[in-house]
Amino acid sequence: MTSLSEIMNYNQAFVEDKKYEEFVTTKFPNKRIVILTCMDTRLIELLPKAMNLKNGDAKIIKSAGAIITHPFGGLMRSVLVAVYELQADEVYVIGHHDCGMSSIDTSRIVDSMIKRGIDPSIFTTLEYSGIDMEAWLHGFSDVTESVKKSVDAIKNHPLMPTDVNVHGLVIHPENGKLDIIENGYDVSVKA
Ligand SMILES: [Zn+2]
Repeated sequence: MTSLSEIMNYNQAFVEDKKYEEFVTTKFPNKRIVILTCMDTRLIELLPKAMNLKNGDAKIIKSAGAIITHPFGGLMRSVLVAVYELQADEVYVIGHHDCGMSSIDTSRIVDSMIKRGIDPSIFTTLEYSGIDMEAWLHGFSDVTESVKKSVDAIKNHPLMPTDVNVHGLVIHPENGKLDIIENGYDVSVKA
């Protein structure tokens, strides 16, 4: 059975048995928070449980490493939409220890791309188009620094209202322990 057919079979029963009923909520986050975190599989259930979040409590934006790489990219747009359209007034950037983006080997990824059939000349074309593959794929070496950078990018974004609190945390991917890196209520931290 393929992954897709397995999911579709399960889904049919899920809907028929009305297993969705316990998840019914609205699109507005009950706790008025938006979280930017990593796509790491260990955090799927652990992160919401460790924060006492239920379906409907928060907007959760996920990406590799929870890094705001571009001030006008999709992640920042999602944060702004959550704030302006969906009543979020607290932003949490939550990185985690042992993140795949902290040990990423960009040249290995490029090698894998070539092995999987990407024409090597494409990398030359990209280079001449101003795309620095190394910089684009690169994650971070220190999760604390990375969280701080993303918090700063959000807090100081020209379109971010100043009354929104932006917090930075790091979660342990095994026991769910949270450590505060930046407390958004501490106005003195605000640039
Ligand atoms: Zn990660």
